[in-house]
Amino acid sequence: MDVPLKKVAIIGGGLAGLSAASKLAEAGIDVTLFEAAPQLGGRARAFIWKGKRLDNGQHILLGAYQQTLKLMASVGIDEKNVLLRLPLALNMHQSFSLKAMRLPAPLHLLFGLLTATGLSWHERFTVIRFFVWLKAIRYKLTQDRPLLDLLIQKNQPTRLIKWLWEPLCLAALNTPIASASAQTFLNVLRDSFNQNKNDSDLLLPKVDLSALLSEPIAEHIKKHGGKIALSMAVSDIEQTMNGFNLNFASKEASEFSHVVIATSPHHVHAITSQLDITRDAAFDYQPIYTVYIQYPSHIKLPHVMTGFTQGIAQWAFDRGQLCGQDGLIAVIVSAEGAHQKLSQEALGESIVEELKESFPDLPSPEWHKVIAEKRATFACVSGLKRPKQLTQLANLYLAGDYTEGDYPATIEGAIRSGLSAAQLILQS
Ligand SMILES: Cc1cc2nc3c(=O)[nH]c(=O)nc-3n(C[C@H](O)[C@H](O)[C@H](O)COP(=O)(O)OP(=O)(O)OC[C@H]3O[C@@H](n4cnc5c(N)ncnc54)[C@H](O)[C@@H]3O)c2cc1C
Repeated sequence: MDVPLKKVAIIGGGLAGLSAASKLAEAGIDVTLFEAAPQLGGRARAFIWKGKRLDNGQHILLGAYQQTLKLMASVGIDEKNVLLRLPLALNMHQSFSLKAMRLPAPLHLLFGLLTATGLSWHERFTVIRFFVWLKAIRYKLTQDRPLLDLLIQKNQPTRLIKWLWEPLCLAALNTPIASASAQTFLNVLRDSFNQNKNDSDLLLPKVDLSALLSEPIAEHIKKHGGKIALSMAVSDIEQTMNGFNLNFASKEASEFSHVVIATSPHHVHAITSQLDITRDAAFDYQPIYTVYIQYPSHIKLPHVMTGFTQGIAQWAFDRGQLCGQDGLIAVIVSAEGAHQKLSQEALGESIVEELKESFPDLPSPEWHKVIAEKRATFACVSGLKRPKQLTQLANLYLAGDYTEGDYPATIEGAIRSGLSAAQLILQS
């Protein structure tokens, strides 16, 4: 069978696969996206629980997510309708608070640090000195190393590491600070603080993740002639004269000239066993737990987003203030830790107690639900080698948040990888 010059298959309907398909469909390429699950979105998706649309994990975006914002605009999403844009504000309960000022970068951060509450003058100046040093080295280390080592070498006091750097590291890299890649963390700081003051804004979804991204991107793909096949797991890929055959358990094989594998790395191994390519060492993963707690609808937390530095809970989001789900609080527990030994019921109860200690006026909740994403992100450890989007086989590409790039496992990392794989196909 002759395959048209460019007939592209995308395997995986997470944000990497969706962004690749969107760009290719826009360019008029014959593109089909295959997703194993009955819904799109991968690790950024909504589900229904007790009649509410919840997310598999509360997500935060940053003003620095340039490619994400550009893609959203290109598929017709108006940022103002779906994202709450807040100037960077860290409200760490009973420890400190910092609010970026309405000044050009980096003065917004400098004055934010100078006016932060709960930090000593010595602590404020050590952070400022650290940023001055980062600017001098252009946020580029000669060699990657664990973030904690770097912070200790740069004389960051213990309290500052615990209150500021560790929560930021967990939020950005979802990897314990003792092993996290300092260079990847600096990349996020560079893009957030170095150019435009809006880059450090927090962008909090006002709608669920599927409505925010995967549903409108899928509509855009279809509008431009792209095809989307759900519940269609590719079982393996074979090389042919004209390209590649995709095999499925539930349907006969289809042939494509180009293939983008946009699955998580552990799925890549399974579907490429018949291909002659070097297999990268297996990635390690880190979990994220999201604990939803439903209080009576009049309950509000003092801030939309509150940080904690003492117990298991790390961040609490007030979904009533965010997306009109009154009384619903989403609590995040990132990365590995002792909480993984608890049953989901016990974890939910512990978080309810911790919130009650922080906010004694909270009544008993109506229900709580724990979502455990055990492989939420790859462990973004120091010195990690990430595969390129180009593989050793012509016309076979990889995409996904784990592929080579500046960013940790994030929406922005996934979208950048998908756009870059699509670009390689357009140029091929
Ligand atoms: C709980 C949680 C919280 C997070 N918080 C944030 C945050 O605050 N900010 C942020 O930027 N990022 C966050 N992330 C990370 C972000 O969600 C991911 O980096 C991003 O969604 C990854 O997209 P992806 O397309 O690379 O991979 P995935 O989303 O994993 O997509 C891969 C897709 O491939 C499909 N697939 C696998 N095998 C096959 C097959 N054989 N055939 C067909 N399809 C297949 C899967 O079903 C899946 O849909 C969070 C992630 C989680 C889980």
